[in-house]
Formats: sequence, structure tokens, C-alpha cells
Amino acid sequence: MTIYLDCNATTPLEPAVQEAMLHTGFGNAGSRTHEFGLNAKKAVQKARDQIAHLVTAQREEVIFTSGATESNNLAILGLCAHATQKHIVTTQIEHKSVLEPLASLQGFEVTVVPPTASGCVDVEAVMAAVRTDTLLVSVMHVNNETGMIQPITAIAERLSCSSAYFHVDAAQGWGKDIQTLRHQRIDMISASSHKIYGPKGIGALIVRRRGYEKVPLTPLMYGGGQERALRPGTLAVPLIVGFGEATQLALRQHQERAERCRHYRDTVLKGLAPLHPIFHGDLEQCLPHVINFSIAGLDSEAAMLALKGVIAISNGSACNSAHYTGSHVLKAMCLSDDNIQGALRISWCHLTETVDWEEVVSRLKTLIIE
Ligand code: PMP
Repeated sequence: MTIYLDCNATTPLEPAVQEAMLHTGFGNAGSRTHEFGLNAKKAVQKARDQIAHLVTAQREEVIFTSGATESNNLAILGLCAHATQKHIVTTQIEHKSVLEPLASLQGFEVTVVPPTASGCVDVEAVMAAVRTDTLLVSVMHVNNETGMIQPITAIAERLSCSSAYFHVDAAQGWGKDIQTLRHQRIDMISASSHKIYGPKGIGALIVRRRGYEKVPLTPLMYGGGQERALRPGTLAVPLIVGFGEATQLALRQHQERAERCRHYRDTVLKGLAPLHPIFHGDLEQCLPHVINFSIAGLDSEAAMLALKGVIAISNGSACNSAHYTGSHVLKAMCLSDDNIQGALRISWCHLTETVDWEEVVSRLKTLIIE
């Protein structure tokens, strides 16, 4: 049996989440005239509260979307649609669903801050890029390729002297690093259900009010006025229920899950030790369920092929796997071409089974070119 070690790409459904979804009725949450609709609305409100609670937000600040890609697009394109300030700050290690909408903007100047060699952005470098005409600062919570936790709290604190909106793509840190996202200086948070054992196709953009002022977002689509007209379309009630349940479970269990992941990491590191892996990033500042590494003389494509049937791993972001040209994140960390070409990402979770690391090592050893 192949053991799944690609939890940063997506995670399995938690049985309790599946159970909650199966017990959700089919009603349209917008139907006010009968109990089918009212029950659906109630289920959505419960999920909205579960999600808002995780980040200390209000239920009306939760906008359901199809996932973090859409949330990032709504945050960026929705804010820029009618903005008069035309400067944005982001980082080189963002996900493509942040970098590509930014690249599509016309008439905006985008400052893209590089990370340090460990894959973390430097707070001073971000703040040095912020100007009086900066509209938006967009920095991810946790990098999807390296697991590196970014200094969101420090940036939020420092932004207290700026009027720029602060957006955080939290697809990888949601439900794992809890306290960070509760910082009230963060204006917008993108989240995705399928990274925390919930269903795919559902996510949220949390849009916090500043006092009585709303972040001035323009919708990307028009229609039935759902989600305060920011994201029209009939709500995907069972998916929303699953996302709510997955979020609540994550809040309850995040410490226990992290502990299990730390133990699992010890076995991964011990298992791989005979291959002398070179780690990309810094294990001290990394979430405990992921490592990115290369092994001298080993090509990542060859490694993944050789490990078929034993473990399922990746060489970076699943979103890029159709046209893999070497990770933009690892390039930004100034890794050598060989290390980028050989980079492997292993990511697990509290549900992951034991791996036969001796088998992994023996298969990989035959591939290493001395
Ligand atoms: N941002 C980051 C950091 C991610 O890891 C991902 C998923 N790979 C996304 C955004 C996109 O999320 P979704 O799959 O929900 O669209």
C-alpha cells in the first residue's frame, strides 16, 4: 500500500467531517419560504460561526468561496478594482494565486520582497517597501513548499502606523497556527478547507471591518447577491458544513495533531538520515508536518518514480506540477540549480501511517549518482 505523504497538496477527509456532510439536507440556504431552506441557512450560520471563531472574527466577516485561490483573487482584484492608491507590497515566495492576479493588474506598481536564504521574509525588508501610497500588503502565513512560518504578527504590529490593507494567504496555516490569524490588524485572510481534512471546492475570505469601515471590495462576479454580494451563487451547503466542522476540529485538536506530527517528523528524519538530506528552510521555524530537502546526486523526478508504490510525495506545489520548471520559492531562496532540481517535499498529518524507511532508502540509494 502506498503511504500518502503529500498533505500540503491536499489532505484526506476526517471521518467526523464526512459524517457531518452526509447529514446535511439539500435545501437552498437562500430559500426563506420553507424549512428546507431555513435548515440549510442554519447549517451555514453554524459553519460561519465555527470559522469566524477560529480567527476571532464576526460571522458577517466570513465570505465563502471555492477555495484559497478564489479568496486570493477576490482580495487582490476586488480591492484594486476601484483603488486610487496604486502601490502593493508582496513577497517572492507567495503562491501563484497571489502572484498571478498581481501580475495581471494594470497601472499598479508591485514591490516583490525576496525571502532570506531560509525561506522566511524579513520584517524589515517588508516594512522598508511600504510607502504612504501603499494600498495593500500581501504576505502568506505558511509557505506551501517549505512549511516556513512567516512573521505575520510582527508585520501586523509594524503596520499599525500604515493605512495599507493587510492580506494573509493562510491556506497552509489555517487551523494549525491559531494565534497568528487572530491579530486584528490583519484585514483579509484566505483559507481553504481541503488543507485541513475538509472537502475540496470550499474556502473563505475573512474580511474584517476596521471599526465601522468595510474593506472596499468589488465583487469579481455578479448574480444573486449572496455573501453580501461579494460572492454570488447558491451556497454549497454540505461543503460549507464540512469546512466548518473541519475548522472546529482543528481548533480543538491542533496541539495534539502538531505533537503527533513532531513525533512523525522524528521518524522521517531518522529514516532519511542515511541519505544525508540537505534541508531547504529551517526546521525550527517550520510547521512540524513538512520537510523540503534534496539529496546530493539525486534527481527529484527519478526519486518520485522509484518510490511509486511505497510513498506518494511531490517536488513542490501540486498547482504547478503540469509544467514544472523548478520552484520559484526555492529559486527565491537562492538555492543551487542542482538542489532545486533535486528538491522533494514530504508532508504528513496526524492520520498518516508508518512508512518503511529502509525500503525508501534502499530504492533511492540505487539512483544516487556519485
Ligand atoms: N495558497 C497556498 C499557500 C496554497 O498552498 C494553496 C494550495 N496549494 C492555495 C493558495 C490554493 O488553495 P485552493 O486549492 O483552495 O485553491
